[in-house]
Amino acid sequence: MVATSVTNTTDSFEDKHSVHALVNKNQNSVFHDYESQTKARFDNVQIVLKEILSQQTRSDFKRFANQQLFSRLGVTLDENVWDLNKGSSSHRFPEDLYSKIVFELFIKMSEDFFINDPLSGQNKKEAEEVFKEAGIHAVGIAPCADGRLAHFISYVLRLPYTLARRKAHAGALFDVSESVRNWVFVEHSRFREGIPNNPEDPTRYLKMAVYHFSKADPSHQGCAAHGSDDKKAAEAAQAKLTDFRQAIENRFGCGSTVETMLIGINTDDDSLKIHIPNAQGNICLDRFIETDRLYSKTLGLAANEALAVIEAEIDKCTSGNRLTRPHSSIKKLIVWLLKNNFSQIEYVKNYEHGQYKDLGHAERFIGIGNGFEEVQLRNLSYYSFLDTIEEGANDVDIGIKIFKSLNVKRGLPIPIIIRCDYDGRVPGSKTRAVKKARRLEEVIHNRYQELSSCGLLQTMGTLRDNTGCLPAEKLV
Ligand SMILES: [Zn+2]
Repeated sequence: MVATSVTNTTDSFEDKHSVHALVNKNQNSVFHDYESQTKARFDNVQIVLKEILSQQTRSDFKRFANQQLFSRLGVTLDENVWDLNKGSSSHRFPEDLYSKIVFELFIKMSEDFFINDPLSGQNKKEAEEVFKEAGIHAVGIAPCADGRLAHFISYVLRLPYTLARRKAHAGALFDVSESVRNWVFVEHSRFREGIPNNPEDPTRYLKMAVYHFSKADPSHQGCAAHGSDDKKAAEAAQAKLTDFRQAIENRFGCGSTVETMLIGINTDDDSLKIHIPNAQGNICLDRFIETDRLYSKTLGLAANEALAVIEAEIDKCTSGNRLTRPHSSIKKLIVWLLKNNFSQIEYVKNYEHGQYKDLGHAERFIGIGNGFEEVQLRNLSYYSFLDTIEEGANDVDIGIKIFKSLNVKRGLPIPIIIRCDYDGRVPGSKTRAVKKARRLEEVIHNRYQELSSCGLLQTMGTLRDNTGCLPAEKLV
């Protein structure tokens, strides 16, 4: 098990090959194996399928096809799907198969993720302690829906996925009312059940908004929802956080203040711009630290020396004015997050030569609906949280536009996975999730009829009981 712990980061310090004293090298190796193996399966679909179809004349083709598929990608399809007669009557035969294989790979990935816990994301005890010490009892993260942020929780911040609630929206423009409802739910659980802690404990809910930019190609590879304008992206995310905080205070009184945090990510190398809040928790766009700069500055130092430099830098960016400094517990949390990000910076240095080759979009499928905890890899999926297409139309339109370039241009269909989570303890919850998934599926095919009618948009409905670590179920 690899834990996202403070103490574990010292393991790599003892390793003479380690570059930075605060990096968890062992975790990096495990994380890289998972990422490369998972992505390779999705990336090999086209070539494996082409090779299989070149053997169509074999008398045992159906059996052969599934054998090949299993040995190369670890999945099989229903034998009838390989029916050549059916295929010869459909000019989209290979495209249909392409989507079906992508969907099977997703189901397999989901099973592996929830059953085997490859990133140790079900082990949240230590991270939970760090947040509690900082006075935080629950965390909600609102990143942009862009696939280059899909690994933000598990990789970029090295947080267990079970710790934070993730709702992605194009441009990080999260729904304030929905976030308020979730906050109420969390606080109610504290009052009724003492979960995650007792209401008497002086702790707060932390809402984090994550915008993004590209230093290598700022005018093209920034946030599509904000026309690659970094300033606009940061301002918009900050405004959402201010609205959220204001909404809670206006509705539930001043004692109900929440913590907010604004983070920008450079999608070229996963380094961060962490905006340092002042003592009142207010965020200023001009007050920030950059983790890539601090990583370089502290390289070669012993762990305690590096930490001292980081703390001094945080103080420096608040101009040394005591009134503007963050609360000491929040500062401690920022240092911890920053240290976690160092592991990711070194990950990109070691495995991507310091900068991703896929600077832009390279997502393998679109995910819409809610949940998708099993997607924790960069550029694996364009994910948009929504309940109805109407409310999420903008997000889905952006996703379709991205995939027209990625897939349709190459003659490949756009695979869309719909996910509706349900609460297995609530009567009728699953039935409602089924209805919702079917409705979303139907609306998508209608909205993008041009693509759908020629087989270039394919969907798979999935459900998941989100009360435990159960994998996704295919909607049949
Ligand atoms: Zn974006």
